[in-house]
Amino acid sequence: MIPRLSQVETTEAIYLQFIEALQKAGFAGDLNQDYANRIVLSTDNSIYQMLPQGVLYPKSTDDLVLIAKLADESRFTEVKLSARGGGTGTNGQSLTDGLIVDVSKHMNQVLEINAEERWVRVQGGVVKDQLNRALKPYGFFFAPELSTSNRATVGGMINTDASGQGSVMYGKTRDHVLELNSVFLGGELWNSKPISDEELDEIKQRDDRVGEVHRLVDEVFTKKKDLIDAKFPKLNRCLTGYDLAHIRDEEGRFNLNSVLCGGEGSLAFIAEAKLNVLPIPKFAALVNVKYDSFESSLRDATDLMEWNPTSIETIDSKVLNLAMGDIIWDTVSAYFPQEEGEPEISGINLVEYTSDDEESLKADVARLEEHLKSVAGQAGKSFGFSVVYGAGEINKVWAMRKKAVGLLGNAKGQERPIPFVEDTAVPPENLADFIMEFRKVLDDRDLAYGMFGHVDAGVLHVRPAIDMKDQLQESLIRDITDEVVALTVKYKGLLWGEHGKGVRSEYAPEFFGELYPELQRIKGGFDPRNQMNPGKIATPAIDGAELLKIDAVPTRGQFDRQISSETREEYKEAMFCNGNGACFNYDPNDAMCPSWKGTRQRINSPKGRSSLIREWLRLMEQNGTDLVEEAKRVKASSFIASLPKRIKNTLAKKKEEEYDFSHEVHESMMACLACKSCVGQCPIKVNVPDFRARFLEVYYGRYLRPAKDYMVGSLECMIPWLSKFPAPYNWAMQNKVLKAIFRKHAGMVDSPTICTNSLITGMKARGIEFASPQLIKSLSEEQRSNAVIIVQDAFTSYFETQLVLDLVDLLSGLGFHVLLAPFKPNGKPLHVHGFMKAFEKAAESNSAMLKELDNTGVPMIGIDPSMTLTYRQEYGYVIPEKDLPKVQLIQEWLSNQKEKLGAFDLASRSTTEFKLMAHCTEKTNAAPSIRMWQQIYEAMGLKLDIQAVGCCGMSGTYGHETQNVETSREIYQLSWSEVVNNPGNKDRLLVTGYSCRSQVKRIDDQQLPHPIQKLLSLLKDK
Ligand SMILES: Cc1cc2nc3c(=O)[nH]c(=O)nc-3n(C[C@H](O)[C@H](O)[C@H](O)COP(=O)(O)OP(=O)(O)OC[C@H]3O[C@@H](n4cnc5c(N)ncnc54)[C@H](O)[C@@H]3O)c2cc1C
Ligand code: SF4
Ligand code: SF4
Repeated sequence: MIPRLSQVETTEAIYLQFIEALQKAGFAGDLNQDYANRIVLSTDNSIYQMLPQGVLYPKSTDDLVLIAKLADESRFTEVKLSARGGGTGTNGQSLTDGLIVDVSKHMNQVLEINAEERWVRVQGGVVKDQLNRALKPYGFFFAPELSTSNRATVGGMINTDASGQGSVMYGKTRDHVLELNSVFLGGELWNSKPISDEELDEIKQRDDRVGEVHRLVDEVFTKKKDLIDAKFPKLNRCLTGYDLAHIRDEEGRFNLNSVLCGGEGSLAFIAEAKLNVLPIPKFAALVNVKYDSFESSLRDATDLMEWNPTSIETIDSKVLNLAMGDIIWDTVSAYFPQEEGEPEISGINLVEYTSDDEESLKADVARLEEHLKSVAGQAGKSFGFSVVYGAGEINKVWAMRKKAVGLLGNAKGQERPIPFVEDTAVPPENLADFIMEFRKVLDDRDLAYGMFGHVDAGVLHVRPAIDMKDQLQESLIRDITDEVVALTVKYKGLLWGEHGKGVRSEYAPEFFGELYPELQRIKGGFDPRNQMNPGKIATPAIDGAELLKIDAVPTRGQFDRQISSETREEYKEAMFCNGNGACFNYDPNDAMCPSWKGTRQRINSPKGRSSLIREWLRLMEQNGTDLVEEAKRVKASSFIASLPKRIKNTLAKKKEEEYDFSHEVHESMMACLACKSCVGQCPIKVNVPDFRARFLEVYYGRYLRPAKDYMVGSLECMIPWLSKFPAPYNWAMQNKVLKAIFRKHAGMVDSPTICTNSLITGMKARGIEFASPQLIKSLSEEQRSNAVIIVQDAFTSYFETQLVLDLVDLLSGLGFHVLLAPFKPNGKPLHVHGFMKAFEKAAESNSAMLKELDNTGVPMIGIDPSMTLTYRQEYGYVIPEKDLPKVQLIQEWLSNQKEKLGAFDLASRSTTEFKLMAHCTEKTNAAPSIRMWQQIYEAMGLKLDIQAVGCCGMSGTYGHETQNVETSREIYQLSWSEVVNNPGNKDRLLVTGYSCRSQVKRIDDQQLPHPIQKLLSLLKDK
């Protein structure tokens, strides 16, 4: 039995007092000092891990004012505060051992769009892609770009002065900041914007912090102008953080925003921002230029800049190969053809043109094409290219590039690419030479790495692969950073070219030299006692205030190495999460991650769950528990013998007598839908359902399981019996009193009723037989070559029997010889709930039966996507690969039957255009199969569009569990509700998942058909 984890690092007294005082003062947001929230926010995308004392989620600017006011009181001067947005920083920017102030949870509204004057006002927690989606209908966009645009916030972008692809044309974030509403320590709310000298003089007269910082910044700028000119490099990317070089704008106006932008939360909280927006260019083209070496692509990029593109990005073969191995490649593969006889692609330049005039855009592209053709094959030049027109298609390539950054973390083995020297910038003309020397630094140490960069801006991204769990390898961080800093000096560049300073601020004093004390004075003006995100960018010149050091901050590796390698291996699906935050994708039409989207709690995300499991493993190890052995013990233990202890532990849990960190982990796991979107979409392939099941297995070795788990777990075994007499079961499920009892005591709601039209009767009526090796042997040659076996699952066979019969009818109608595999429990519900022993038994028994059928060579197909994919995913953990039965999704098999499909042209039917709403597991874990539905429809003269939607909120039994009903409905509202209720979609929507269809029925009382059912009805409808 696992031990109780009662000892965790508690919140310091001063912070508890601060939180209490905040509550008393009327703080309206959420205050979390539980260990789970603290652990989840102890990491960003960097190599570091710092446990905060608590997390504050302000609801409004007033809350920020309260925090800042209280922190300035003499009793709370030890309190440290670190603002946080998306938490995607790569250098520990938002990490603290004080309090985290997460503005992303509640302060995330686009407040005002002024199309006439071309600006937008937003709260600090608005995500960049969210903003652009709101601006799109007005024809505008917020131009600064970054790879994390689907989760990084405007507050974070402002504070790191973010920029990325297109920065040569569009500049950095601060180039688009018109006004900032900031909250200063002490609670002053200040609106900063470019001001005249008269206004400045007036402000300088104030005797508060606002007056003080204006006096200070103006004085530093006036007195140290020459030094500032000498120290601040004249790079496209300039220098993030306290940008004194741009205190006066082109019109000579004083602009405090130059200092605030890039301030990394060390000066003030950004509550709101007024931002400049630009018209979306009407036309765009992307030229993908291929090279046989990365060096050639880099050197040639400088030449290509003469053809005046909007931007040029270079990626190396490593990054490209990672993208090729991911589901994202499916969307762009057509643009990177490998022609016969061509060398392997080792470098690519992505050259983008944008314009409002189509002719001029085409002329620009034509000129570049001509040049590329004229130099093709020459040494150091490209050997081929392709051109993509239109923002929609181009964005697919950029999405691939953006994702590839995350994919760099998905290397095999223990050495994983990590950020610490990942964003150097040098003048573009020095880039190729700089990179060659940079590569030597890494090659000399035999390190693997992938590279890509904004070559037009001289920015290089590289993440060397290092195992931070290995103490020896950890020391490379210092050695390599020091060498790279020296190289940036040699090539007149910067270590901090794009992602800000964070922990790397330790290099600032040397870089700024005699200007650094001036930065300290500015910091001291805003934050005299070093409370605002201390240790980043600069410290006030007071005793004990020091910058963080790259090797003096605790790293994730130092915590992870406390877990035994055997346990790490067993839970590897959680260990490698690198915190890049792709799972915080804000897009409601994206499958990732419904429990995070439905609750907006970071503990309910793949990153949250991985972080909790890592800490749980570490604490278990500290308590001397071997979890690998523990799992074996639970499997071998007797249900009855362990009952008394489990009852005792559960009673203590109910009375809240005994703290156990496992309960916090459990709570987060129970909020997971087990939809597997993380498995398919996380760049590192973090597999929450897998480690969730392992956790639940041992957790319930110590505590009692809820009754609903037994109901769900046993459903597949019971259902064949229950279906023999469906009436009493259905009566019980529909009876109001019993429903209330089920809801309250069994924890289940809206359980479906069993179909009264039995599958066996339907089969008999159609002359369909059960498949067996003997029967298949007895088939004629023709029957055999046309045979297909439908593998049953409990949900469709018993709760949606008509769908199975419709599939039988359609396939028979197309000329196939249809057989039905005998029903056996698939085991997925057991796995979801962590009944691992029972799952293993079910998987072994079912796969043995299916493998025999598989060996006959007759193809097997499954109807429900999620149940069918279990055969290639969850089964893979318990069944040797050679014994795994091959069960295809319907579309994977049917799309290859073009001849039979083509014999039926349905183009003359009254409706021929449809929209597919695919199941999350299917579209994230078998992405190419979605297009196969389109091919099937196309082969029959129909058009099928893929409707962009997120999760429906049902996911197996999740939406039927009382504790989840509300969130389940909220998730449905995020994207499904609008599509389902759009009158334009009437009779056009097709749904592949059983769960999704039942959720639509339950919430909107509509029965949406499966794509198979639509085809059948069109076939019949002559
Ligand atoms: C895979 C990957 C790719 C990346 N690519 C790019 C890129 O192309 N270009 C680029 O510029 N960056 C890039 N980054 C870095 C990162 O995404 C950016 O720095 C981003 O701007 C951070 O935004 P965030 O909302 O996640 O901020 P966080 O990481 O939460 O915070 C960043 C800093 O801003 C401060 N902060 C946040 N909100 C506020 C606020 N409201 N008030 C005051 N201070 C605040 C924090 O204290 C912290 O110092 C990348 C990161 C990753 C993981
Ligand atoms: S779970 Fe995956 S997507 Fe989320 S932070 Fe971890 S590695 Fe990134
Ligand atoms: S399985 Fe689904 S709900 Fe659970 S963590 Fe992964 S994406 Fe989120």
